[in-house]
Amino acid sequence: MTVQQEAGVGGEELEVWIDQDLCTGDGICAQYAPEVFELDIDGLAYVKGPDEELLQVRGAATRVPLPLVGDVVDSARECPGECIHVRRVSDRVEVYGPDAA
Ligand code: SF4
Repeated sequence: MTVQQEAGVGGEELEVWIDQDLCTGDGICAQYAPEVFELDIDGLAYVKGPDEELLQVRGAATRVPLPLVGDVVDSARECPGECIHVRRVSDRVEVYGPDAA
């Protein structure tokens, strides 16, 4: 994957992580962006790595490919647990999600 493909808002690279403590397990995120989110056997959502392997560590972050930024942002907006956090890689400032300015 090229840097350009990973670029997000204003050319900034974005990454996303989930606060599993607040996840309701409804699976909306996995419907919006199945390339990025998946429910594990514990019933909670986790992010996937670049090879689409599930990162089963709570709070793990993964880069957001540019074609998927819209789907990931929609997931964060619709997430009933308000637990999807999208942040800039460069300074880790949240740009979409419950802690965004
Ligand atoms: S949309 Fe939010 S609450 Fe629902 S499964 Fe995904 S992370 Fe969990």
